[in-house]
Amino acid sequence: MIDPFGRRISYLRVSVTDRCDLRCVYCMAEDMTFLPKREVLTLEELDRLCGAFIGLGVEKIRLTGGEPLVRRGVIGLIRNLGQRIGAGGLKELTITTNGTQLPKMADDLYAAGVRRINVSLDTLDPAMFKAVTRWGEIGQTLDGIFAAKAAGLAVKINAVALKGVNEGEYDRMLAWCGEHGFDLTLIETMPLGEITGDRMDQYLPLSMVRDRLREHWTLEPTDYRTGGPARYFTVKETGRRIGFITPMTHNFCESCNRVRLTCTGTLYMCLGQEDAADLRQVLRDPGAGDEGLRAAIEAAMLRKPKGHDFVIERREARPAVARHMSVTGG
Ligand code: SAM
Repeated sequence: MIDPFGRRISYLRVSVTDRCDLRCVYCMAEDMTFLPKREVLTLEELDRLCGAFIGLGVEKIRLTGGEPLVRRGVIGLIRNLGQRIGAGGLKELTITTNGTQLPKMADDLYAAGVRRINVSLDTLDPAMFKAVTRWGEIGQTLDGIFAAKAAGLAVKINAVALKGVNEGEYDRMLAWCGEHGFDLTLIETMPLGEITGDRMDQYLPLSMVRDRLREHWTLEPTDYRTGGPARYFTVKETGRRIGFITPMTHNFCESCNRVRLTCTGTLYMCLGQEDAADLRQVLRDPGAGDEGLRAAIEAAMLRKPKGHDFVIERREARPAVARHMSVTGG
């Protein structure tokens, strides 16, 4: 699939549920209204849709959410997708998770063919963790991370950079990741969905963070890529990598290779734009069949925009995009 700007689309991110067992302050409002079940695609429908994308050239699928591992029966979908790795056309199946379910699921994920996962952890401080997630217990996520490591999964830690919250944590987190063999990616907070408070208060440009880290660490540029938007450096002192995802300070849209499917079958061609294609309607139309589904996906690719234009400014009362990250899938 090639979009109008000549970019090859080979990466599908699938939000399998909008529900989550945490309420991170930058991601969700405290009193979220979740989708009624009837609007959510069944796991069989999600599997069929993923199959259609793989048939059209998608090589990498990331399951996300909400929290993907809280969806009942999700391991069945993961197993089915895992069977498509290799000769089935898929090169990689990965998951972004908050880690709470990993103590009981890590071995199953490995057995299903998952080899790498991203775990979101914004701080190593238990009280700060509770404040950021609104009610999470850090011990549960840490147990999940170590269960994943023990199961043989490569773990990358994702942390959203939050001004005045975790900005004093990155040196410690980099050292901790080095000690345990994890890469670390820092993410700029993006203006997605209404949250409590002002995003401007949270926004921390990563160019500044990188300069500060360089006071204590040697960051060597590398052309390592995982197929996502992060730019990586090798940390000489630990031998691990640190990645920076900078949608705000550096617009990375020129190399975008991804589209995002929500759990209702809505396909967003860009995280930062409102335009979307309703694939659920085609999926549930008995007259459309697999051909109709393929045609709908191909037509959507022709609407992929050049890029997003996120701005975080105090005078911007509303977020750039109304939907929360938990809807589109981070
Ligand atoms: N529940 C899973 C998790 O915690 O990783 C998957 C979904 S979560 C929405 C995916 C990622 O998006 C997390 O790393 C989260 O920190 C990030 N995220 C959520 N809202 C964001 C925002 N407004 N700006 C930047 N990153 C955000």
